[in-house]
Amino acid sequence: MKNLPTIINLLSKKYPSSNKTTLNRMREKPEPFKILISCLLSLRAKDKNTEKVSKQLFAVADTPEKISKIPTKQLEKLIFSSGHYHKKAKTLKHVSQELITRFNSSVPSNREDLLSIKGIGPKTANIVLAFAYDQLVLPIDTHCHRIPNRLGWLKTKTPEQTEKQLEKILPKKYWKEFNAIFVQFGKKICQPISPWCSKCPIEKYCPKINIKKSR
Ligand code: SF4
Repeated sequence: MKNLPTIINLLSKKYPSSNKTTLNRMREKPEPFKILISCLLSLRAKDKNTEKVSKQLFAVADTPEKISKIPTKQLEKLIFSSGHYHKKAKTLKHVSQELITRFNSSVPSNREDLLSIKGIGPKTANIVLAFAYDQLVLPIDTHCHRIPNRLGWLKTKTPEQTEKQLEKILPKKYWKEFNAIFVQFGKKICQPISPWCSKCPIEKYCPKINIKKSR
């Protein structure tokens, strides 16, 4: 893994973590409930949409109580453009209700409690712990899972396995910004289908594992 620091340094210059995603930006003034809800809204949605939909929703309902009281049809309408609005509305309602009844309307600050709420998976739990509570954990989304595999840093099948492996090989000084850098890089260059290898700043260090087609 001798190239790992070189790769991270090159990527962090090109995709600085100051160009943050909506969720990354929210860590600057952390409000755990809003971070949790925005993360749930961001699943399978574009970043721009997450920001817009979160703002729309929080203007009307920004606490577990308010979200649990809002009529489902109205909630679906508010979050419609984030996609999968029917399922997301159901999750938002359920999560809010769980927070009220089991956690005194607060968002838990430990992984076990977060994962005990249906609808909150490992990625969402780590986003909340990292961005809302400033804990040193690795939120692994699809980009953070795909790219280290292509780089040959690890060989894993799921984001959960990637998280465990990265914890072993990634020096802790990179953990905080890893997500922001790899999400930007994954969206712009190392895309899921046919990555832009010809424009890639780290091409000479990449063995392109499992890449069948590139541009
Ligand atoms: S060379 Fe291609 S596969 Fe490797 S990191 Fe760059 S874009 Fe991704």
